[in-house]
Amino acid sequence: MNSENYYEIIQQKDHLIIIREKFDEIDPRYFTIYTNLYLIIGNNECLLIDTGCGLFPLKPVIDKLLNGKKLNVVNTHFHWDHIGANGEFDNIFIHKKERRLISRPLNLSFLKDAPNTILNRYTDINLILPPAKRITPLNGGEVFSLGGIDVEIIHNAGHSPGSISLYTDKGELFPGDLARYGMVLLPSKEYLAQVIDSLEILINLCNEKNLNELYPSHEEFNISKDILTDLSNHLKNIDDIWENRKPNEVNNAWTIEIDKFVLLINVGIKEREDFRKRLRLLK
Ligand SMILES: [Zn+2]
Repeated sequence: MNSENYYEIIQQKDHLIIIREKFDEIDPRYFTIYTNLYLIIGNNECLLIDTGCGLFPLKPVIDKLLNGKKLNVVNTHFHWDHIGANGEFDNIFIHKKERRLISRPLNLSFLKDAPNTILNRYTDINLILPPAKRITPLNGGEVFSLGGIDVEIIHNAGHSPGSISLYTDKGELFPGDLARYGMVLLPSKEYLAQVIDSLEILINLCNEKNLNELYPSHEEFNISKDILTDLSNHLKNIDDIWENRKPNEVNNAWTIEIDKFVLLINVGIKEREDFRKRLRLLK
């Protein structure tokens, strides 16, 4: 296995290439099959959304797709599966709230118990990945004019404090990890309001700017904006489905399966005793 056959390259449109990683080959314990990186191609410049897990060199793969154009690299948020290859690029844009979180080497020692042998690649580097060489903070509201296509940054907290979404003036929205099918990583129940607020911001944005093609950072892409309303409705009605929760030991979280989602909800302080009790019952 090498960079060439590890990354799957999908030419979705003239101005959009999807670079896919098989997340479950790295660690199957996160209910996630794919990580999606996106390369938006303008007439003069390109923009790469996220750098993946850093398991195989990414930059040589991206360089081949640029045709000599200047590259901008943005992280949707600081989680390890989106920033792994940051150290290969000259500069990384990320929301200012997460700037410091990506300024240190990335320690992947929590993966050492993952059952897959592909991880031996990480062992060669002692499960440590180098950080970005330079980091430029974003506030939200910035526009990257790539030539013939504009990409705007939206600050969209909820999945993490500095999560961002991006949208183009060609009708595409990239919501990062805020909305995706499969596993949706969420804060504890009392903080779900922030996620709902962020989803509502995107729902309004889609209506206002006529966006109806969503490209999440995991799993299915080119999906309808309905995912935003569906997810928001489930979270608003969380009390109605709360009795379906199951304790998940690996992620220290509740899971609730509903429609095409697996909601993975952090265990709140008041729920800890209940969580431990339900875990014991499973054993
Ligand atoms: Zn992720």
